[in-house]
Amino acid sequence: MPAIFLDRDGVINEEVHYLAKPEDMALIPGVAQAIARINGAGVPVVVVTNQSGVARGFLSEDQLHDLHVKMAQLLADEGASVQGIYYSPFHIDGVGNYQKESTCRKPGPGMIFAACEEFAIDRSESVLVGDKIADIRAGNAAGLKTVLVRTGHGATETRLPEAAEAGFIADDLAAAVDQLFASGVIAK
Ligand SMILES: [Mg+2]
Repeated sequence: MPAIFLDRDGVINEEVHYLAKPEDMALIPGVAQAIARINGAGVPVVVVTNQSGVARGFLSEDQLHDLHVKMAQLLADEGASVQGIYYSPFHIDGVGNYQKESTCRKPGPGMIFAACEEFAIDRSESVLVGDKIADIRAGNAAGLKTVLVRTGHGATETRLPEAAEAGFIADDLAAAVDQLFASGVIAK
């Protein structure tokens, strides 16, 4: 089974520096419809998100959970859903138990590997969409197809030479999904 892996900040929701409050969670236009299209094809959508704000003490894991409840509500309002959410709360500059180098933190592929095990996902058939080179590197390290979008940090990251590491570049998630359907990567 294939899956579509999505970075969260700057791909699903508008980039906010260390987003912590549910009221600051806003979907990027067209995202809910794009995810609903993937849902309609019967392909799982899995969120993989670095959340070093937890390690840095900017928000708790409970607050992160509340953010994801809000995201799910906003998506559900438009008939869309995600089937899994994986996050890495760790960072080498963090505090307490969160202070560590983790292969789950992108560009490490740990979250993708964990999801593939849980959902029996075929990595060679799957795609990761991200707005940062670190997302693309995580996807490539896991053997996924990759798409770099221009939303969020993509506005600047797509201008870097490393953007060539992505399979292709799209304006936003909606455009990426259009192309994935048109090329048959996601079967209708
Ligand atoms: Mg991002």
